[in-house]
Order: sequence, then structure tokens, then C-alpha cells
Amino acid sequence: MKRILLSEKIKKAPWFLTIEPYLRKQDHPIASHPEARQPRIVPLLVIDYGNPAARIKHMRDVGRLLFGSVGEMWKSAKSISQNPYSGKKNIDSQTLADVEAYAKSLGVAEIGYTAVNPLYIFRGFRILFPNAMVFTIEMDREKIRQAPSLPSYIEIWRTYYEVGVIVNKVADFLRQRGFNAHAGPAVGGDVNYVPAAIDAGLGISGKNGLLITRHSGPRVRLAAVYTDIENLPFSQENQHHWVRDYCETCNICVRKCPADAIYPLAKVLADGAPSFIDHTKCAMPFSNDNGCTLCVKFCPFSNVSYDKLKKRFE
Ligand code: SF4
Ligand code: SF4
Repeated sequence: MKRILLSEKIKKAPWFLTIEPYLRKQDHPIASHPEARQPRIVPLLVIDYGNPAARIKHMRDVGRLLFGSVGEMWKSAKSISQNPYSGKKNIDSQTLADVEAYAKSLGVAEIGYTAVNPLYIFRGFRILFPNAMVFTIEMDREKIRQAPSLPSYIEIWRTYYEVGVIVNKVADFLRQRGFNAHAGPAVGGDVNYVPAAIDAGLGISGKNGLLITRHSGPRVRLAAVYTDIENLPFSQENQHHWVRDYCETCNICVRKCPADAIYPLAKVLADGAPSFIDHTKCAMPFSNDNGCTLCVKFCPFSNVSYDKLKKRFE
């Protein structure tokens, strides 16, 4: 008998964690492209392919951060009803500098700007505004060096929670100044943040499927604030394409992955899209071994400065 896979059946968080119940008549959300990817709900992947009992055992260590992340997701959704719709769609350079300084004071490492490609909005999802401020925050190098371990696992959830708090605070900051904003949460986001961050010039995806950034390599957590501000300094080019060539000479994450979940050449997976990583294979070590994270730990960009690696490579 064919096994029922929850991760195939359920593609959305409960309705109250989405923007849908909080929409007002002045809202005109932007839908995903018909060929957009479907999202992966990680806890359901763990139930289908991993070891949920191991995850439950660690709830006492990360439960506060996990439930806090869901709370921030709820806040992101319901706070859209506070958008001022004042008509302000241009931001002056001082106010933008204030927004950036505020985000950095909260722990943001890098900020990029892009119009969101509807292909990157998950299939069946909607966002409220067409442009994005994309944020990275850093996962602590020393904690990730200990992976797989409880400190590295807690660090994963700390960053999920904190970037969720940050995007809600930045969205509030914008609203108080008359701008519209929709905070995209770190967990259960409506957009595939990796390609959106690439469009925002923040990095490029490595073979480990993660965004490789200049500031902290793949040791980053991503989230975004969507807005209808029209004069943001959108990224015009991405200077990180050389990293793809570097990956071809490296393949460390391919060799270190305990589940053979990272392929040396991209494969077309069940969702029809090419990928280097099969998250169904990753689910078991991810759930058994404190979040695994070996593909982050051993990536040279986690440990050596981006500029040094670039110089050596050239
Ligand atoms: S987290 Fe572990 S199992 Fe998953 S892709 Fe990375 S190295 Fe492989
Ligand atoms: S470990 Fe090597 S191959 Fe894997 S993402 Fe990092 S640089 Fe690329």
C-alpha cells in the first residue's frame, strides 16, 4: 500500500499563520507564478523521512525558540492590518539609512534590495508588496564548528527566532514612518529566500543549497520585509557567480554529507526543479543528529574569509 506522505499533502501553515485572514479591501496581494516551486514544511519532512522522536526529545532545549518563531510568524501575518496606506512610496536617503542602522542594531549582518520575482513566491502563496528588503543574520562560527551538537542545534533555532523578531521590528519601524510593510518570517516564509537574496546581490547558492555570503559564508539565516517603496537601491548585479566555479573544485559538502543528500551534479527531483540537494535524504541526519549542519560547518566559506578564498581561487 502506498504510504501517505504528509509533506506531499500539506503545503501550507494553518490559515491563521498566513496573511489570508488579515487582508483588507485596500490590499492587493501578489500571487506566485504558476510554475513556482512548492514549499517544503521541514517538520513534515522530518515526520515522513526523519526521526520525529529525536526532535521531540530536544523540545526542552529549543521549544522556547521554536514556539517563539511560530509566534513571530503569526505577528508577521496579523500585523499587515496595521499598514497605513498613506500613499508614501518614496523613501529619502536619511530615512533609508535610519532603517538600515536600526536593522543592524538588531543584529542584521547584510541587507539587499530586489523586486520579488513571482517565480520565487511559493506556489499558492501571496505576498502583499512587490519589493523586498532581504536580511541576513549570522550563525555563530564557534557554535557551528561544534556541529552536530546541542549548541549548534540551539544556534539554528536562535537565528530562526531572532530574524523573525527583526523583520517584525523593521516592518513596524517602516509603518511608523508612513510606509507599508509585510514582514516575511524566517520559518514558514512565503518566498524562497535563497533566489530572492541572490537577486538582492547578497550572495549565490552553493552546492549545499545555501546562500553563500561575503559576510559569513553559508552561516546565515534569511528573511525579508516586502514593501511598495519604489525607490529602493535595488541590486543591479551579482558579484558572487565565481563561487559556483569554486564549488566545482571543492565538493567538500558532497563528501561530508552523511546521507549522500548533496549531489556533485544537479538532479531533477520530484518537484520537477533541478537541485543539488535532496531534503528527503537530509531529514534523517537532520532529525537524529542535532540538526546535522555538517554542510555548513565544513564549507570553506564558513571558516575562511570570502576575500581570501576569492584571491586564492583567482
Ligand atoms: S544537513 Fe547534514 S544531511 Fe543535510 S545536507 Fe547538510 S550535511 Fe547532508
Ligand atoms: S562546501 Fe564547497 S562545494 Fe559545498 S557549498 Fe561550500 S564551497 Fe561549495
